[in-house]
Amino acid sequence: MHLYCRLFIHGLSIGLSSLALAAMPALAHEQRAHVHGTAKLNIAMEGKTLILALESPMESLLGFEHAPHNPQEQAVVNALKQQLSTPDQLFDLPGKAGCKSTAITLASPLFEDKFHTHNGHHADLDAEFVYECSQSSQSSRLKGLNVRLFEQFPHLRKIDVQIVAGQTRKIIRLVPGQNRVTW
Ligand SMILES: [Zn+2]
Repeated sequence: MHLYCRLFIHGLSIGLSSLALAAMPALAHEQRAHVHGTAKLNIAMEGKTLILALESPMESLLGFEHAPHNPQEQAVVNALKQQLSTPDQLFDLPGKAGCKSTAITLASPLFEDKFHTHNGHHADLDAEFVYECSQSSQSSRLKGLNVRLFEQFPHLRKIDVQIVAGQTRKIIRLVPGQNRVTW
């Protein structure tokens, strides 16, 4: 209902997507938009290291983004943390590319114990998934991946994806039913 009714601009986006942005200086000062129902995914592959950086309003993932009001909402937040700690359920990488998840970083005000929200405040998730693969992005065995976030998060309607892999620079938009990223 209130999918697009609130637009909140955060500070400058730096950090997480720095690898991708280094290759795209024009976007370096892009502001970060907080639009419910959407998310951003930055895919960067350098050598055999693959980094998937997801930036999303918590509303897109949970259906709410206030501090949990009751044990049920706390359980939903805990379940999300669990879900994000299982990247196999979020991204399908080709088996023959031999990619292993080596690090996961999850950051959100909702994951902090002392988080209190007031009406109208927003909260994001910043997640980073790092893989080490046996193939590089040049290899025909690793030319893309499937994003399974729509299956996992029904509130999510759109993902803007930025890809920097080898010589490839690409920006694409995923919607439910269209979840394939190639480079
Ligand atoms: Zn919000």
